[in-house]
Amino acid sequence: MVKENPRYAYLSVDGIDNCICAIEDLVRQKQHPPEQPLGKCFIEMSACAGSCLGGPVMSASMPLASMPIQNVQYAGHLPGTTIRPAPVRDYITVSRYAGEKDFETFSYSAEELDKKFASLSPRRIHLGTAAVEEVLRKLGKTRPEHELNCGSCGYNTCREKAQAVLEGKATLTMCLPYLKERAESFSDNIITNTPNGIIVLNETMEVQQINAAACRIFNINPKDILGDQVIRVLDPAPFIETCREEKNIYNRRVYLADYQKYIDQTIIYDKNYHIIIGIMRDVTGEEARKTAKEEFNRRTIEITDRVIEKQMRAVQEIASLLGETTAETKVALTKFKEILSNE
Ligand code: SF4
Repeated sequence: MVKENPRYAYLSVDGIDNCICAIEDLVRQKQHPPEQPLGKCFIEMSACAGSCLGGPVMSASMPLASMPIQNVQYAGHLPGTTIRPAPVRDYITVSRYAGEKDFETFSYSAEELDKKFASLSPRRIHLGTAAVEEVLRKLGKTRPEHELNCGSCGYNTCREKAQAVLEGKATLTMCLPYLKERAESFSDNIITNTPNGIIVLNETMEVQQINAAACRIFNINPKDILGDQVIRVLDPAPFIETCREEKNIYNRRVYLADYQKYIDQTIIYDKNYHIIIGIMRDVTGEEARKTAKEEFNRRTIEITDRVIEKQMRAVQEIASLLGETTAETKVALTKFKEILSNE
């Protein structure tokens, strides 16, 4: 590219549909060569509309969502593809970040870059609709409305993707909505079934989510608190502290006087999603056992003290009695000795 070989035409296309058009064009040129040969060309193709500007990292890191191209005047895209709605601003942002100078990059040798690809076409198999339906079923697409045909997997439709799975060209789980749904159902399962109470707040201390275990601690229904201030059920101070100081709290024992319960409270601030997650372990039983054990120990010590005291008193009485009788014996024996001496 740098050499700017004059025998080459250089062009770039972006967006899946445009890439497909370019490739189909090349195939056509090959099948029906034009009178005037086009020569060689170097084509840079980006699957993402807008190239890296439309890439997944940009969508994740920039707040603006993509919108259908038909709503945006942006040359070079076909209807149905998506780009970001602020291409100029995004381009300038990236350009500023990149700076004037090239980055130091690692280069592979020509040999390392050489790779042969076997044609996949001989593997094309048609197992029929039933097999395709089975793959779709495994992807959780059991109704027509489940087939989103979003193209995230690189195939235009879910059925094309299912066919590719049967041909061994794609893996079953290579479906973004499927993975997202699976991850959500996985985390939903954990949140629903964990014995720990979980409460999620936004930065204005409003309850966004609460699980069944937390509802049991507070003895409420989720709908009674969702969207409301957390102060209604919990002291907001540690949540505010975690959010302001960006320092998580782990396993802090707290007594909830209103509910007569002890909890171990962990509070985590997720800065990226602007949420504060409170995890509560109900340790009331554990605390009651601890208190009972302490009471038992205290009473045992009390009893032991009383026994020792009694024993001491008895010893003292015995000692004093022994002293008295010893003195009397001494007097008697002395008198007896005097009588014997006089005789
Ligand atoms: S990513 Fe999933 S939903 Fe989207 S087209 Fe592919 S199979 Fe269908």
